[in-house]
Amino acid sequence: MKNRTGQDRSITRHWRPATQAVRGGTMRSDVGETSEALFLTSGYSYDNAEEVAARFRGDRPGMTYSRLQNPTVAMLEERLALLEGGEAARATATGMAAMTAALMSSLSAGDHLVAGRALFGSCRVLVDTILPRFGVETTTVDARDPDAFKAAIRPNTKAFFVETPANPTLDLCDLKAVCGMARDHGLLSIVDNAFASPVLQRPMEHGADVVAYSATKLLDGQGRVLAGAVVGSQQWMDDVYLPFARHTGPNLSPFNAWVVLKSLETLELRVRRADQNALEVARFLEGRVRTLYPGLASHPQHALAMAQMSGGGTILALFLEGGRREAHGVLDALRLVDISNNVGDSRTLMTHPASTTHYSVAEEVRTEMGITEGMLRLSVGLEDPADVIEDLDQALRSVGL
Ligand SMILES: *Cc1c(COP(=O)(O)O)cnc(C)c1O
Repeated sequence: MKNRTGQDRSITRHWRPATQAVRGGTMRSDVGETSEALFLTSGYSYDNAEEVAARFRGDRPGMTYSRLQNPTVAMLEERLALLEGGEAARATATGMAAMTAALMSSLSAGDHLVAGRALFGSCRVLVDTILPRFGVETTTVDARDPDAFKAAIRPNTKAFFVETPANPTLDLCDLKAVCGMARDHGLLSIVDNAFASPVLQRPMEHGADVVAYSATKLLDGQGRVLAGAVVGSQQWMDDVYLPFARHTGPNLSPFNAWVVLKSLETLELRVRRADQNALEVARFLEGRVRTLYPGLASHPQHALAMAQMSGGGTILALFLEGGRREAHGVLDALRLVDISNNVGDSRTLMTHPASTTHYSVAEEVRTEMGITEGMLRLSVGLEDPADVIEDLDQALRSVGL
């Protein structure tokens, strides 16, 4: 491999994020290809027996098996670490693989976890049901209130897990306050940054220890592959994450890594434009129905959004008085916006969380989170926002709004 660009940290770490997104982590083969190569290989061959023995002993660098290392995946991991301002990153098969591996590698039976209560549906199931099966105690708190984390700390508490902005309620967590509190108490803070992406929010700058992603969302951003990632310190990666992940295999495939690597080249352009489009759509909706969007002054945590994010994000929520019937009526009337439970796509997508993404969350938990029967989640994409607004206008009118 050539190291002409991208792999020498002493040079690359000084690049600005837009440059990282295009060039960070690039390794070139002897051919000198400009675009990153796809190494679709599960294993590696060696010049002699001593070479492979030395690699297994860890005495010599080099790859041994794609569950452990792969050049295409390594390029994505290095690019994500640089983009996030972290020391090390690992890519995973899905966002849920990233969340599960980050939590299970850090927690053991008898430990206690404090998590924000407004979480992606499967993250709530992980916290409420799966971790307790392995003897991990969990408490969920209102992540909008830093004092709630403090009140939940027990002698066996090991970590905080939050999502901000949260899916789909768009609750924000004050990262400086909560991650700082974790540090003061010797706890690990894990932040799910899927809704913001490193373009709009860099949790490590606010004190987060670990940042976890569904890269299926804005990082790929074109609705093609499932992927995830965790970013942390080199020490956490070597001592905590890898001893778990090397043997349990949540890895991303080289093909999907290559797709996400290509997507990152346009990350900044896509996220900034979708963020502007979302603000325009939110301003239109706000005049018609109750709308929650961190970029609007009417969002209860707007000041915090402006302090820890560089935009309101690409996702908003609207609340219809007429419950599920009215919400489903709006969805069924859409002509451009797709009914889809994905987010962070170049296409504008709308879903009814209570009957889809949060269907497996108990009704009383949904209510406590603020997910009502009349709530719709809108993920704004890259179309001309005037066309999206026209479509929403006619869909709302079709139910008399
Ligand atoms: C989608 C999502 C996940 C899960 O990611 P997958 O790639 O679907 O496994 C986790 N957290 C948040 C906030 C998400 O939006």
